[in-house]
Amino acid sequence: MNLVLLGPPGAGKGTQAERLVEKYGLVQISTGDMFRAALAQKTPMGLEAKKYMDSGALVPDQVVEGLVAERLSADDLRSGFILDGFPRNTHQADALDRILSDDGRRLDLVLNIVVDPELLVERLTGRRVCRDCGYNYHVSFNPPAEENTCVACGGEIYQRDDDNVATVRERLRVYEEQTEPVIDYYRPTGRLVDIDGSASPDEVFVDIVSAFERAGTGTR
Ligand code: ADP
Ligand code: AMP
Repeated sequence: MNLVLLGPPGAGKGTQAERLVEKYGLVQISTGDMFRAALAQKTPMGLEAKKYMDSGALVPDQVVEGLVAERLSADDLRSGFILDGFPRNTHQADALDRILSDDGRRLDLVLNIVVDPELLVERLTGRRVCRDCGYNYHVSFNPPAEENTCVACGGEIYQRDDDNVATVRERLRVYEEQTEPVIDYYRPTGRLVDIDGSASPDEVFVDIVSAFERAGTGTR
């Protein structure tokens, strides 16, 4: 199964992708994680992307689309993939269609995780992430047992540079302006399912599994 996880920043895409990876053996492809990894290695692409990420803007389409095309050509995706954070506008959605159809592949399911904007600000400003394994914490909703240490791998927990109130508000504005139209892009395909993302992570995952299983058997 090939999936896209749509939804605003903070909707829980990374949190739910991790669970899907564990349950179904799919591969998660997060463009944001790829940029952060490139930045940690100080590659030219990472340093270029940082300028956009720090201001809450989107990295130019040409850069992201090239990165995704290369990642989707790898041969570890046989069980399927989960795109998390891509496509972020209709240009990228068109590019994805082309990349997949050139290769005889297609998307099976687009999950649109819906959450109230005010809840998103709280989730994002309270988010903490493990620098080593990427596990997601939240200062109130999912605090680590030890303040700065990841329970999963012992790595250091940090706060992303773009998870401050001002940048979060800009990212949500950019989402409304550029990414929301992607919902209307996919809705007519009949492969998009809305998921209420405001419940607990476990409850959201129950709905996602049910949509996933229905898509796998061709019922919706
Ligand atoms: P996204 O990948 O969509 O930006 P994340 O999965 O990183 O979002 O989640 C953002 C923050 O909200 C994280 O701190 C995460 O622990 C927390 N979170 C995710 N899902 C939920 C949920 N259903 N209820 C409460 N907090 C959540
Ligand atoms: P994320 O980790 O998905 O919250 O993304 C963090 C930042 O990376 C975004 O605010 C953008 O600056 C950049 N980014 C991630 N994915 C994309 C994309 N598909 N298109 C453009 N920029 C992206």
